[in-house]
Amino acid sequence: MTVLPLWHKPAVPLPFRVRPVRGETTLSFVFRLAAANELVRPTTLLRSIGHPDNTSPDRFMVLKNWDVQLNLAARQRLAIFAGIPLKQLARSLPMPGPRRDAIDPATPSLHFAGVSSHTRTHCPRCIAQIPGAPVIRVYSSAAEGYCRRHQLWLGECAAQPPVNLSSAPEIAKAIHRRDKLFRSDEDPDWISSHVNTAQDIMIAWRRNPDPLLHRRLTRRWNAREDAVNAVNHAPQLLPTRLLVLPETVILAEILIDPTWRRRIGLAELVHEQRPFYLHIAHRLGFLGWTAGLHTDNDPLRRWVDQHRAQHRHTYRFTYRHHTPAR
Ligand SMILES: [Zn+2]
Repeated sequence: MTVLPLWHKPAVPLPFRVRPVRGETTLSFVFRLAAANELVRPTTLLRSIGHPDNTSPDRFMVLKNWDVQLNLAARQRLAIFAGIPLKQLARSLPMPGPRRDAIDPATPSLHFAGVSSHTRTHCPRCIAQIPGAPVIRVYSSAAEGYCRRHQLWLGECAAQPPVNLSSAPEIAKAIHRRDKLFRSDEDPDWISSHVNTAQDIMIAWRRNPDPLLHRRLTRRWNAREDAVNAVNHAPQLLPTRLLVLPETVILAEILIDPTWRRRIGLAELVHEQRPFYLHIAHRLGFLGWTAGLHTDNDPLRRWVDQHRAQHRHTYRFTYRHHTPAR
């Protein structure tokens, strides 16, 4: 008598459902589903979903930062076991598929792959509130990087421990505003490139501050860093880009503002550019502080020069023809 592989048997909804966490790895979700349904061996559920095509499933794979890639037939079986429609499940689980589909797409298949550089642990305090405190792994790019409930920044990789931001609410607000900025345009890559530019400028001002020109910003950043360090055990772990995020978002909002882009694109002389620097100083909360923002080697001045060199002619032309332009 031949024993049929488990994936040959019809899939049926398991008695207990598990709510997927946004960005969760497929393996993390499958193992939690198996644990909730008290399957002694979580790999039994994996073997019921599909045929492993490269290696044998191991119950410790989730701890060793592996994920399982499913072809469509296997995803459909997982959705049935989970009792959640596949479309709905896919909204939470990124479920990257195998690089090439199985030769026979009708055969549900599993492919195991190491994913340590793309994944991290879900918010430890959220996990602690789930019965059994399960292991929950998420893809950094698909999961929220900040837990609003616990005011924890969760980092972007396995090696980054969470940072408690409760003493610097302006960073949390800036994360929210930055995300809103990304959603505000149909071209998030364009927004992203300007957020990166603003970030590079702020990081340069933080790392190589002019003792005279940037002293107010430096003082503010030092105070913010001290406040974050006071509520964290590992003070060196707050990345600079997070420390300067409130100012980064303010500058990014100005760099993408169509009115300012046009005005600075058309400003031939330094004194015509002055309102732009004044506006930035004002938005950063430093009235009357503009000196130095437009000195030759300042990174903001370099952006202005580059922007003008790239768009000067376009703005002159569109200004005459009243055509909106970026
Ligand atoms: Zn949390």
